[in-house]
Amino acid sequence: MLKVEPPSGIFVRSAFSGTINTIISELMERTAMTEIIPPEVSDFYKVLPKIELHRHLEGSLRVPTMMEIVRAHEMDVKNTGYLRPLVQVDHDEPYTFENFLSKFGTLRLFYKSPDIIKRVSWEAVEDAALDNVRYMELRFTPAALSRAQGFPMAQVVDWVIESVHQAADHFQVMVRLIISINRHESLDIAGEGLEIAMARKKDGIVGVDLAGNEAEFSAEPFRDLFEEARQGGLRVTIHAGEWSGAENVRQAIEDLGADRIGHGIRVLEDPRVVALARERGTVFEVCVTSNLHSGVVDKVSDHPIVKMIESGLNVTINTDDPSISRINLSSEYQTVHKDLGISMDMIGTRVKAAAQGAFLPAELRSKLANAIEKEFMRRLILPD
Ligand SMILES: [Zn+2]
Repeated sequence: MLKVEPPSGIFVRSAFSGTINTIISELMERTAMTEIIPPEVSDFYKVLPKIELHRHLEGSLRVPTMMEIVRAHEMDVKNTGYLRPLVQVDHDEPYTFENFLSKFGTLRLFYKSPDIIKRVSWEAVEDAALDNVRYMELRFTPAALSRAQGFPMAQVVDWVIESVHQAADHFQVMVRLIISINRHESLDIAGEGLEIAMARKKDGIVGVDLAGNEAEFSAEPFRDLFEEARQGGLRVTIHAGEWSGAENVRQAIEDLGADRIGHGIRVLEDPRVVALARERGTVFEVCVTSNLHSGVVDKVSDHPIVKMIESGLNVTINTDDPSISRINLSSEYQTVHKDLGISMDMIGTRVKAAAQGAFLPAELRSKLANAIEKEFMRRLILPD
């Protein structure tokens, strides 16, 4: 029986006592109260066609699925607190990057079999389709998925690819994959991830991503690796300017050849880097609620997305980790519209920009951008 230990630094509210069955039923009861999709999202946003460029598979697990896994594998959650606070950010928790990253420590324990990995991959695509996402780039960290049972990384990647393709066909949504490499892990692991990605370009792996603990680990050691990725025909996106400053955005663009920046909101701290990103047309994968939950901004109204758009930056709107943040892309469009005052026309422009920033061949990209623009405009003029 596997013990679910809260990762260090985790905020645990209260402990369970009793048998596994009473724990499970209590978990089920509590989970039922919180859906991933916030109930207050209006249909107006739900029906809009969407593009997702920045979503982590590991941050997309449905809580009810996790509950089933806990039950099926008799995972012992006794004395470790409720499951949900271990895997989702709650309102009364500290909004810090340590707390945010700690959720992945628990999530990692769930990849206990090929079936589970295939199931969560399928469900991530299904959830996107249900949210009217037309095109999604789903990223995942093979090292993280393989660790629970010591599966070979290449094997894990093939399970994800297989399931994502089946789900994409079934739900009629276009999906491409990005391999994430953690900057707080070794270059050996990174190298293996890159090799696996290179060998699977024909299977829909379109890029590599540098993720993980930006606050404490530099991207510098990964420079050659990303050069190799680019030479090999993969596209590059780098988490930067999220938990550290504008210099990291500059480094990602100039030294690592990033086509896109994950978050990048702290670019505004240096006008020279803003100018550089604007000139290059670098795409920013902005994730508003995630930035709140990981303590990058204190409140939504402080979020600089409007300022980024006004500065001429190529901004797109994304979720990052829908399950951890209990959001979807509809609720994010609603947040930037209602709470940050971004007009629906501008949201439409940003959705089109996301299509144009997709890691697809040029022809396919412009076809997608035109189709999404047309559908978005049609939805906007429909009566309520
Ligand atoms: Zn991310």
